[in-house]
Amino acid sequence: MSIQFIGQPYRQDIIVGGYASGRRRNQEPNYFGPNLLENWERDSVRGYYQSISNEDLVNIMYTSRNHVTIHIYRVRLSDVSMVENTLDLIPSGHLRWLKQRKPEGIIFSNSAGRGNSEIYTGGLNPIYDDRSTDFFDERDGIIITYGALWRNQNLRIISTLMHEIGHVMTHSGKISYRYFSAADRETLSNTRVSRNPGRLEALCNAYMYFICYSSLSPAVHLYGDRSSDLQRNSETRAALRRCPAFTSRMLSSTEIHRFRER
Ligand SMILES: [Zn+2]
Repeated sequence: MSIQFIGQPYRQDIIVGGYASGRRRNQEPNYFGPNLLENWERDSVRGYYQSISNEDLVNIMYTSRNHVTIHIYRVRLSDVSMVENTLDLIPSGHLRWLKQRKPEGIIFSNSAGRGNSEIYTGGLNPIYDDRSTDFFDERDGIIITYGALWRNQNLRIISTLMHEIGHVMTHSGKISYRYFSAADRETLSNTRVSRNPGRLEALCNAYMYFICYSSLSPAVHLYGDRSSDLQRNSETRAALRRCPAFTSRMLSSTEIHRFRER
């Protein structure tokens, strides 16, 4: 709902990753990078990327309608409104849970992961503390790469951030497969999302799409609704509404109304 800048913007070189088309890392992205006239470069470990020098970055504090505060670090100045748009869609009860489970907040980064699973694209709830950010303990925060934001910027929201918050909502079963039919549970838990084989990936996508579905922006709403895709159809929304995250335990009556079928 409101954004407060912490200190002044600062300049830093950053790397924006590009998603390879298809699942394999060796196929070039089929969209432009931030340096429109240049080709994607390739790193054999982390994938495709472009470098931007002297980008304006800023640290911010987001405050929700119900006064939940979330810190966000190293955001591109030009992306601040996308962070705000995204967090505005997350119910306050979910933001409170995020704050409890991930008190450090959100940090933008060139890459996420480690070793062979390090990538320039995507998001992560890491189980390690990155020593290069001594002000931020990654174990208690969420990492979003600049590449994930770049890829999905057309809707002016950060879908990867919603997906990562979805992972936090799986803690203590705030969302779970429990309320899905056996067949849907089976299908979703075996749905392979990008390169990540985890059983919860499609559930976190379902969370992301449901958050989008609740948007008043027609384009974002439409993105969250596709009857041919089990991750974003009415059957899945009905199951999510039975999860604690979408009942009066975590939503206000206004929010319940926003997540109704329409
Ligand atoms: Zn995930």
